[in-house]
Amino acid sequence: MSDHTERSAALFDRASAVTPGGVNSPVRAFRAVGGVPRFMASGDGCHITDVDGNTYLDLVCSWGPMLLGHAHPEVTAAVQAAVSRGTSYGTPTQAEVELGEEIVARTPVEKVRLVSSGTEATMSALRLARGATGRAKIVKFAGCYHGHVDALLAQAGSGVITLGIPGTPGVTEATTADTIVLPYNDQAAVSAAFAQYGDQIAALITEASPGNMGVVPPRDNFNAFLAKICKDNGALFISDEVMTGFRITKSGWYGVDGVVPDLMTFGKVMGGGFPAAAFGGRADLMSHLAPEGSVYQAGTLSGNPIATTAGLTTLRLATDAVYAKLDQTSATIQRLVATALEKEGVPHVIQAAGNLFSVFFVESSEGVRQIRDFTGAGAQVLPRFAAFFHAMLDAGVYLPPSAFEAWFVSAAIDDDALADLETALASAARAAAAVQN
Ligand code: PLP
Repeated sequence: MSDHTERSAALFDRASAVTPGGVNSPVRAFRAVGGVPRFMASGDGCHITDVDGNTYLDLVCSWGPMLLGHAHPEVTAAVQAAVSRGTSYGTPTQAEVELGEEIVARTPVEKVRLVSSGTEATMSALRLARGATGRAKIVKFAGCYHGHVDALLAQAGSGVITLGIPGTPGVTEATTADTIVLPYNDQAAVSAAFAQYGDQIAALITEASPGNMGVVPPRDNFNAFLAKICKDNGALFISDEVMTGFRITKSGWYGVDGVVPDLMTFGKVMGGGFPAAAFGGRADLMSHLAPEGSVYQAGTLSGNPIATTAGLTTLRLATDAVYAKLDQTSATIQRLVATALEKEGVPHVIQAAGNLFSVFFVESSEGVRQIRDFTGAGAQVLPRFAAFFHAMLDAGVYLPPSAFEAWFVSAAIDDDALADLETALASAARAAAAVQN
């Protein structure tokens, strides 16, 4: 139970004095749900503990990376050993070779370049696509988030929806002039865009299965359709697996639909809780990158030895058994949520993509069966989510503080945690039911 929040509140005051909004990434703020963000002090398995001593079942998992749970003993030991040998050399190291090999073994990419964040991965993939094709235009989907890359903040999901910012000030019209934004899951819109601009499009980028407008999986064959229309038009198909990669299956969403993109982007799980990300693809495309080719891309801390050690150790521990457990845990949680909300008559839609899922607090249970795009995801009763969120928090469950986010499970969630969750859900469903539409 989170009874006391004085220390979080005091830290939030101090943070707000030195940092905009008191947080270093907007989704950490509680703007969408109200209240004071909790400042965490430690994590252990499926739990995190804040500075006031409140412990929470963690269903955010650092927004994806903590697949194995917090402070996994083997990851911690590997990181400690790596740190004791030095933290960065600015030279190649063995761990980055091994992480590259692990990514190539798990996914269809032939070559990979390591970077430090998902944003860098997508930004670099776009530059490579433009450099390799000699074309300028980029296609993206409304509600898909690919990090805070200027050209891709034309109408993004996640934090941007939550904060209600249309695009964002600071990105010039010239920067997004070559970005075409289309409704997700809409083949006709994609066909029309390619009919008009086909020979100018360098790449189409999509989340492999979107999780940043809530979980909105692709319709059957949508990714295969995207891959084909790109190929037919000489454009590159970029699948962003920063969220789904190494989380949904050993490879990612690729392990579900098997569509082979030209380029892929990864992050989150592959850093094991440290800043590591990557982009990769066909060897002939990747050879355009410096120093082999002329497309420049670089990073002082790219392939950092601590981050690559954490990521490599995490991936090596993420066996088939781990993915089976994640699937089972996710299915159980979805069932518990559905049961609690149904009992209180709270309209909702739960959508999953493998073990990723989210709960949409839709206006009514009549008619709404599936959320297919950003517009559908937007039609939620947000005060109902806020009441649900705070009741869960009070009962010791940490959910994403926004109705437009996926819930992330870890392999550390056990039966005791699930029992705690069931208890929390009963009160949270009552709190949600008390909010009138
Ligand atoms: N792409 C996707 C699909 C993401 O979900 C995110 C982050 O949530 C990013 C890219 C950006 O990654 P990062 O926050 O590491 O820059």
